[in-house]
Amino acid sequence: MVGLSGSDDSFLGVRFLKAGANDLVRKPFLLEEFVGRINTCLDHLDDIQTIRDQANRDYLTRLYNRRYLFDTGCVLHKSALRGQIRVLVAMLDVDHFKHINDAHGHDVGDQALVALAKLLIGGTRGTDIAARFGGEEFCIVAVNVEEPRAYLERLREKIAALEIPLLEGVLRFTASIGATVTLANSLEAMINAADKALYLAKESGRNRVVMAEGNAVRGE
Ligand code: GH3
Ligand code: MG
Ligand code: MG
Repeated sequence: MVGLSGSDDSFLGVRFLKAGANDLVRKPFLLEEFVGRINTCLDHLDDIQTIRDQANRDYLTRLYNRRYLFDTGCVLHKSALRGQIRVLVAMLDVDHFKHINDAHGHDVGDQALVALAKLLIGGTRGTDIAARFGGEEFCIVAVNVEEPRAYLERLREKIAALEIPLLEGVLRFTASIGATVTLANSLEAMINAADKALYLAKESGRNRVVMAEGNAVRGE
């Protein structure tokens, strides 16, 4: 917020700045001075965005990190508790990722994670959260999804269709997904339920979606 003032009252400018303005330009002014001050403000906004991203996003994939997931996810969960929205919590883990690293190198493994992250960003809305939970594990908190299983199945299919270019040929990989739409007392409890379903998805053959229902975890 930059003010322009033609007043001789110096205290007016001080009050303006104390009230939260970023700068004050006194009239008359040179155009260069005005543009310079505006540019300084824009640089500050860029710096703030950079700091915010560094605090909230994962370095490799640019997805949200755990800190953001729990901060903002809890806000979504509270809205769900008030009945304002429905939330879907899904845990997603790349299948046999260690083998990808071992067979093709860490760089190719990283490329796979970045490609998967782009897909998750494209597959979620602005109000949803797609976060890197750890290594090759991701968490999605999605709002008001009409058909959760069909949505996650489409996501799983899109992941299986990804192609990472290799020196010779392409790499394809799959992911297992565990999810819940049952509202629990906390976001952590919903993440735990999704994680248990993910475990079942792995146990039952990988490259599949398992939905947890209530306390009973049921796969299809
Ligand atoms: P599963 O199907 O049971 O999930 O098997 P997995 O091999 O995917 O699981 P495991 O937990 O054995 O291995 C995960 C691997 O992910 C091991 C670790 O080195 C690798 N990893 C974690 N973070 C990164 C990363 O940022 N980049 C790369 N390239 N590899 C990573
Ligand atoms: Mg894995
Ligand atoms: Mg894992």
